Amino acid sequence: MHIRIIPVSLIVVTALSVSFAESPRGIPRDLARHRAAQISNVRYRLAFALSPQAATASGEEELRFDLKTWESVLLDFRDGRLLSASANGVALALKPENGHLELPMERLRPGENTISIRFAAAIAAAGKPLTRFEDHDDNSEYIYSLFVPMDASMAFPCFDQPDLKGRFTLDLTAPVSWTVISNTPIQSATPVGREQTRTRFAETPPIPTYLFAFAAGPFRQLSAAPGTPALYVRKSKFGRAQAEAPEVQQIAARGSQYLSSFFAAPFPFSKYDMVLIPGLAYGGMEHAGATFLREESVLFRAAPTHSDLLNRDILVLHELTHQWFGDLVTMRWFDDLWLKEGFAQYMAYQTLAALEPKENVWKRFYESIKPDAYAIDSTKGTTPIYQEIPNLEDAKSAYGAIVYSKAPAVLKQLAFVLGDDKFRDALRLYLKEHAYGNAEWNDLIQAFERISGKALDTWAEMWIRHRGMPQLDVSWSCQGNQLSELSLSQHDVLGSADVWPLAMQLGLNYTNREPVLMRVDLNTKALKVPDLNKTECPSFIFANEDDYAYGRFLLDPRSREVVVRELGETRDLFRRTLLWGSLWDSVRDSELAPRAYLALALRLLPAETDETLARSLVSHSATALHRYVSPTTRSEFVPQFEALSADRMSRSSGLDLRIVWFRGLGALAETSEGLGRLKEILNGRLSVPGVELRALDRWNLVTALLGHGDPEAGAIFTAEKQRDQTGDGQKYAYVAEAARPDSAIKRRYFEDFLHNPARPEDWIEQSLFAFNYWNQSELTAPYLKNALEALPHIKDDRKIFFLMNWLTAFIEGQQSSAADAEVHAYLDSSGIDDDLRLKILQAVDELDRTVAIRRQFSN
Ligand SMILES: [Zn+2]
Repeated sequence: MHIRIIPVSLIVVTALSVSFAESPRGIPRDLARHRAAQISNVRYRLAFALSPQAATASGEEELRFDLKTWESVLLDFRDGRLLSASANGVALALKPENGHLELPMERLRPGENTISIRFAAAIAAAGKPLTRFEDHDDNSEYIYSLFVPMDASMAFPCFDQPDLKGRFTLDLTAPVSWTVISNTPIQSATPVGREQTRTRFAETPPIPTYLFAFAAGPFRQLSAAPGTPALYVRKSKFGRAQAEAPEVQQIAARGSQYLSSFFAAPFPFSKYDMVLIPGLAYGGMEHAGATFLREESVLFRAAPTHSDLLNRDILVLHELTHQWFGDLVTMRWFDDLWLKEGFAQYMAYQTLAALEPKENVWKRFYESIKPDAYAIDSTKGTTPIYQEIPNLEDAKSAYGAIVYSKAPAVLKQLAFVLGDDKFRDALRLYLKEHAYGNAEWNDLIQAFERISGKALDTWAEMWIRHRGMPQLDVSWSCQGNQLSELSLSQHDVLGSADVWPLAMQLGLNYTNREPVLMRVDLNTKALKVPDLNKTECPSFIFANEDDYAYGRFLLDPRSREVVVRELGETRDLFRRTLLWGSLWDSVRDSELAPRAYLALALRLLPAETDETLARSLVSHSATALHRYVSPTTRSEFVPQFEALSADRMSRSSGLDLRIVWFRGLGALAETSEGLGRLKEILNGRLSVPGVELRALDRWNLVTALLGHGDPEAGAIFTAEKQRDQTGDGQKYAYVAEAARPDSAIKRRYFEDFLHNPARPEDWIEQSLFAFNYWNQSELTAPYLKNALEALPHIKDDRKIFFLMNWLTAFIEGQQSSAADAEVHAYLDSSGIDDDLRLKILQAVDELDRTVAIRRQFSN
């Protein structure tokens, strides 16, 4: 729960009723509520002039709105420069204060008002809502906007809150050779002198400021079949995009057809474009009618596996779903962020499952979604799905695994409880009733209740409003060959008295026949399953077959023993994946020795043919080796993992598995023999059969060699820089060098991370884990405290996900109890904002666990 110490709302209430004696900071909820009640019928007519290399864009705006009662109005505008303003034809002398412009009452009137403003907005490589990307491959330049959650007001004066939707008309003046893209189709293009074109876009339907966007530069459009979304890419990547990106257009076209019929609502905007943006801060951003996708998520820099391609499809479908969930119906405030993110995530999987029925999509959902959710939700820093956001300047903190991973997992549980048809019909009702408007979570819950006839208040209260998660324990016994007793009990992982409404599918598993599945609803602390008569004694019990329920499902000791022994014989891939997941949860909960997990992985991995399961086992093994076991145990296991990786990389029958093991070798190699293999791959003496390595594959190996301080790493790094002089190559060289075990380098990078405004944010973000290479905790420990102290500045200046990546990288670079104590001492010191405190508690959980596991299992 987030409580701010300064009673901002009091200041606003007083100010609104008289005049704005003092502008509030950010956009407090009360101000937003007040404006939403007073202001309507908002129309923005905006013109931006973009010039190559200019540090600002000059802007003109005509803003019209209806005012209900006569009073002064606050417009949001921070960071930009105001040049002139008038209200209803009369010039105004406005002074920006705390990110607002106060339109004085005496220049306004009830009914329609017209405000005209001239201004300038900054354009920079980082830290601004108008970002300039310099393409070092052909020295061309691109400019794009990214306003979510409240940065539109850094670019132009506006009502920067999601429930004051406006109709936008945009004019962009840009060099004639540039392509310009925005939310709507182009209406007209007029030459301005010989060098520039003024492009006008059609008026948008009502959309919130955070969904308004444009991109400009020498983009090229991929050709597409009629009815297929357009795809734009920078011109230096056009050739690659022609070869690799048409699948993205196809999945978007098929997805659009599926979603229109699933929601019984046609695509809500007049066209759909996707624009590939290099180094975009997010995987994608669902601007109405013009989604931006991170170029690297589509044009893979490392040789992709089948699973990587499906993850790309999930991304495309996620952003596409937002056109309905988020864009057509928008949450009223960012406390309901899950309404759009939870659904986009859930529906992306649901759509892929329908389009690609052979792909075992719900297994993928479990693998990609659940671990992230549980990892945060079992920490003391977790929050409810619904998060109070008293001020929009805190909206960034609402983003994270709780809305992106827990919310879709909880929706999957709800679909199981209600049935798929009722679930779908409720979504249809909700979209129909709130089209082009705003809604809150209880609107959705009411739709579910109306359609299903079920009361969901307890369900919603627990899953939406309460933080944390249940752990489910099973106990059972047999008499002779009969199951004689079976009980379930739940407790809250964080130790509260909460009881969670759970619905699950319990599996009684047998060695030589199919399991018996039982549907169980658990709405109490404990339950004794009745009617066991004649049930054969199972070999083990797993309580969350098919992964319908959300919670921690550990195996009871008797079942775990059997699973460890017989896991290799579990042929059902989804079940095998769930059991492996449960064993890993036992390791992280200090119940199963990491050594036992590693031994099991070594025994079963050679025969594991599923790409994503193999990938997760390799990654968990790396975590166990690098964090949980002693150096002696590590040196015992590492050569075996290296040998296995090298063998599987060369001899696995599937291409995807060979790629997984190639990456595994890069992550696990640390002996001189293992590192020697990485060098042989780089110099071409060793290959991954059938796989053409890409630039990032090579750079990852270079990073690993530098990270391990290999004696030849410096020369290899220099050679790779020589070999790859592309724009990407410059970024990856920067990333790789952060891994050098050299205190002068660490000092230089840390300074650069915090104080170099010209350094693109994604360069830094990608360097954080190399800087904190797992074996360099002694070198990086001195930066831990500084990294924590930089958090307020990072929260203000960086894009949404940066802060958590920063924290995770610096804290997880450490494994010792001393570092753990240092983070907790920092948490105990005064003056940390509550929101940051929760983020630190989330991030330190893994270090707490590492220390606990090391204490529990000394080897
Ligand atoms: Zn999203």
